[in-house]
Amino acid sequence: MASNLDNDIKFLPGVGEVRARLLANDVGIRTLGDLIYYFPFRWIDRTRFYRISEITEDHDDTFVQIRARVLSKQFTGFGRGQRLMVRVGDGSGTAELVWFRGTKWIERRIEPGREYIFFGRPSFFRGEFGMTHPELEGLEAASGRPAGALQAVYSTTEKLTNAHLGTKGIAGLIATAWGVVEGSIVETLPDKVLKQMELMSLKEALFNIHFPQSAAQLKAAEFRLKFEELFGIQLNIMAKRSERISREDGFIFTRVGDYFNTFWHEKLPFSLTGAQKKVIKEIRKDTISGRQMNRLIQGDVGSGKTLVALMAMLIAADNDFQSCMMAPTEILARQHFASISQMTDGLGLRIAILTGATKTAERRAILEGLAAGYIDILIGTHALIEDRVQFSNLGLVVIDEQHRFGVEQRARLWTKNERPPHVLVMTATPIPRTLAMTLYGDLDVSVIDELPPGRRPIKTYQKTDADRLAVWGFLKREIAKGRQAYVVYPLIKESEKMDYKDLYDGFESITRDFPRPEYQVIAVHGKMKAEDKQLAMREFKERQAQIMVATSVIEVGVDVPNATVMVIESAERFGLSQLHQLRGRVGRGGEQSYCVLMSGQKLSKEARQRLGAMVATNDGFELAELDMRLRGSGDIAGTQQSGLAFDLRIADLGRDQQIIELTRRVAGEILDADPLLERPENALLRTLKERFSPQTPKDFSNIS
Ligand code: ADP
Ligand code: MG
Repeated sequence: MASNLDNDIKFLPGVGEVRARLLANDVGIRTLGDLIYYFPFRWIDRTRFYRISEITEDHDDTFVQIRARVLSKQFTGFGRGQRLMVRVGDGSGTAELVWFRGTKWIERRIEPGREYIFFGRPSFFRGEFGMTHPELEGLEAASGRPAGALQAVYSTTEKLTNAHLGTKGIAGLIATAWGVVEGSIVETLPDKVLKQMELMSLKEALFNIHFPQSAAQLKAAEFRLKFEELFGIQLNIMAKRSERISREDGFIFTRVGDYFNTFWHEKLPFSLTGAQKKVIKEIRKDTISGRQMNRLIQGDVGSGKTLVALMAMLIAADNDFQSCMMAPTEILARQHFASISQMTDGLGLRIAILTGATKTAERRAILEGLAAGYIDILIGTHALIEDRVQFSNLGLVVIDEQHRFGVEQRARLWTKNERPPHVLVMTATPIPRTLAMTLYGDLDVSVIDELPPGRRPIKTYQKTDADRLAVWGFLKREIAKGRQAYVVYPLIKESEKMDYKDLYDGFESITRDFPRPEYQVIAVHGKMKAEDKQLAMREFKERQAQIMVATSVIEVGVDVPNATVMVIESAERFGLSQLHQLRGRVGRGGEQSYCVLMSGQKLSKEARQRLGAMVATNDGFELAELDMRLRGSGDIAGTQQSGLAFDLRIADLGRDQQIIELTRRVAGEILDADPLLERPENALLRTLKERFSPQTPKDFSNIS
């Protein structure tokens, strides 16, 4: 059925060719439907007035409105650099307002001694609140606003703003479009679901998301629209899952044989933690079920995931299957190869390593060995995915540090066998379970939530440059005890705009403070050749240097148990999950380890929360939850590359986990009763599922 939602935006009054092109290019709006589904990212309460004294640096990410009297106005600077500075006060305090553009016009409107309404984003100069380019209105404007009315704010671009499509312009277009399409909005959810979940109708929700009639109605509208998106996604994921489970073509690892048993009884130098045993049992259950295993193992750095994966590979070998383990970097692949070869020494397993750096002759031998079945375990990097890598009977694929690989890359490993091998994915990025399943699709999740005994929790401190001497003194004392330290910097190249410590600077100053011959310092960064990096890592591991200066390349998996201090420079620049990963590089041996977060004196509210959380807890899951609350899932390292195929317009996988849970439950109930959504009452859901299918191109032609 044709619908005017599909109408070209350019025919809407107030748009035309030029703006239509801008809207398409800058924000992807081509049709009236696109426009209606262009949701605000924030709503502002324009009935609330702040007192100047109330506005602190914690408000740096919220818009505020003040009612204040103009105390003075003056121009400063000349020509293009001219600014209008206006000092205002409201009895509780004063603030400086600044305009760079349109200064003459503003200056003429502002009369000293009179009161106005100013609205904008707070900025702080030496701790004092001010605003740049606030919106300016007379007092009478406030009386026209209905109580509780919220104003939508849309994201826009500079080009759009110049074409009078700032947030207000966009709101105007949406109001016009609404008049046109209102009658063609068709409900997308079945009555039963609407009733069961007490959801607002689609039409009401779309209206209230743009023009909230009250805070309560806005909330209901948000909930309804988020529910719809997440529900569409869950229908897809859960349908795919039941399909995998019903296929029943998984390899069956019946035997637990010599490889596993000899390793367990003779090689394993410690006993497994309860959590490791639990996960091994889960893997056992999966691999005798007759279904393909697709399991994510989450565990903090050092929780013993790699060991669990090795034991799964031993079971595969006991059943005459080959395994492979894919690591995200050359360094990690070599490290896994070394430790696994050493731990399984004497078992008679044939283990090989294949990376981009493997020499041609060696590569040829490995490829032959794989195809002929001589090699039991292959460890490597992305090189494993290449088409010429062919196994004779690949039974298990282990992927380490999942978030570095995309869904596509994983899928290519599946196809290395006619029947799909079992898959274990290991990640140290703790992700709440519902999010993991939504991000990675159809995976079962195991959690290793226990560290091997004897590990002492890492002590974390937050310090500033003023403490530099004390921190270096501490480092020297640790080094005197025979320990090693990392010092990590956020950037490789000095950034012109920002005054962050850069690696080379850092390297120089550290070699000055830790001079040879007493101290050896080595550097590792992302731009080094793989061989040089490895060499440096090896030297550090062999204790040829006490300090490793690095960029965040050491974040993943590197294992040097003798390193006990991690100093992170400009720590406010790192995300929470990255900080946690970095901290996990120490605390790997029996000694007390430390993490020192160096930061500037003045921090944003968010940076303060991040660093504070790091000091307060070592629990990766707790930090991950906080990270997602602070940033939303969109920014989580790797979610972009991880190939999230869904185009979320309003839901946030991090913040909306409760809605995810809810949609899983409802989708599960419906699919259990009607797996293919064939019943007439589920017809709408079939359409919804289709709309959110990863294969469906994103357009709105199938909404109505
Ligand atoms: P992850 O891959 O989760 O970071 P690893 O498997 O690399 O962790 O284990 C980290 C270190 O702890 C390794 O040196 C490993 O041998 C050791 N380890 C693993 N499991 C145990 C255990 N149950 N008891 C003692 N040490 C363990
Ligand atoms: Mg690991």
